[in-house]
Amino acid sequence: MPELPEVETTKRGIEPHLVGKAISEIVIREKRFRWPIQNCLKKNIQKKIILKISRRSKYILFHLENGCFMIHLGMSGSLRITNAKQEIKKHDHIDIKINKNTILRFNDPRRFGSLLWLGKKPHNHFLLNKLGPEPFNEEFTPDYLFKKSRNRKLPIKNFIMNNNIVVGVGNIYANEALFISGIRPSRKSYKVTKKDFEKLTDAIVKVLKSSIDMGGTTLKDFVNSDGNPGYFQQTLFVYGRDKESCKKCKGEIYLQRIGQRSSFFCKNCQK
Ligand code: ZN
Repeated sequence: MPELPEVETTKRGIEPHLVGKAISEIVIREKRFRWPIQNCLKKNIQKKIILKISRRSKYILFHLENGCFMIHLGMSGSLRITNAKQEIKKHDHIDIKINKNTILRFNDPRRFGSLLWLGKKPHNHFLLNKLGPEPFNEEFTPDYLFKKSRNRKLPIKNFIMNNNIVVGVGNIYANEALFISGIRPSRKSYKVTKKDFEKLTDAIVKVLKSSIDMGGTTLKDFVNSDGNPGYFQQTLFVYGRDKESCKKCKGEIYLQRIGQRSSFFCKNCQK
């Protein structure tokens, strides 16, 4: 599944090809996605200029003169910039055409992705209006997490993976950030101290940033991989390393299921 770093990399990759350009045509070969393609979409986006592209959580927002539409990559979606000469491959469901040399092509084998018209106030849309702060935003502070976590008994790992608390902390990043900050994934949220949250906010920003930096240098045509973050793998401390030795203390890495998700941790390094 494309995670926040892949989405950010994709956004940065497509941006220079599209911003300031008018959409000449949208070709829809498949309408059935996570949400079906709306009937108003064509009329709303054709012949309109893309003023800006931004990202909120894992939504890529395309700001036009008359409003905004978004693309979400879902489980298996990818975007690439291509041209009219390139053949249409299986699962290439949508083309957003600028001209014959510049086409944004949306491929999504599992069709859990979506392309939705959000109108003039995208942040009021029900998919976006409850989202917590971006990890790179100044609202995301140790104090914010500390306050939000009081009286909450759920494991800290589930807490930081909740998009209403903070967006973009997928399973891999949660595991890694908790290792870096020395916090056991199963620890109850209200038992995490302010000092721990200082380490944790730093660690979350650090793991996401380093993944974006690596993604930015290895993803050439902005097609993300099959969701398997191969480029990130060599730097992982705990994720996917059960029964292997801890890179810090040489102890064993344990695997535990927390809220259906695999959680990896070192008993010595994480309390
Ligand atoms: Zn250790």
